[in-house]
Amino acid sequence: MSWKNLSAFQLFAEYVEVGTNISFAEIVKHLSVRETIIQEYGQPGLAYQQKFCEIWEIKKEFPWFPKDKVFINKDFRKKITIAFKALEEKGLHKEIKTFDGCYVDRLSRGLKVTSLHSWAMAMDLNAATNPLGGPVKFSDAFLQTMKDCGLYCGAFWKRKDGMHFALFNG
Ligand SMILES: [Zn+2]
Repeated sequence: MSWKNLSAFQLFAEYVEVGTNISFAEIVKHLSVRETIIQEYGQPGLAYQQKFCEIWEIKKEFPWFPKDKVFINKDFRKKITIAFKALEEKGLHKEIKTFDGCYVDRLSRGLKVTSLHSWAMAMDLNAATNPLGGPVKFSDAFLQTMKDCGLYCGAFWKRKDGMHFALFNG
């Protein structure tokens, strides 16, 4: 049964963890985004990874990045590359202090839906200073640059996730 046939009450019961502050519009948005991703890439897993992911030796291109290699979706890598070059031009890359994960096989925090990290198409940066729920410590210029390069920042969500930068908005 498709989530589209469920009532608001059923959607919350099915997909939202108790105590999570999320609106009906947001849960619908999250489910729509996942439907799009599954249509385009398929479910996360080994077959998906073999087709769409790679190990990126990121320090070779960006020596300042705090990790040598990142397992990542190839399309996400392209966008991150453009964004990091744009950050470098403005000296904003210096704001990146820690890398806190790209590929992580798990559900979204607070939601019973697959996290974009399961597809390796989201990256967490500076997690210690930008926790889920806020505050956000990245500068406006940093976030705007990421956004202008086509990345989606959790900093702009109602339930802020300032560490989170992704290929899709959800
Ligand atoms: Zn994240």
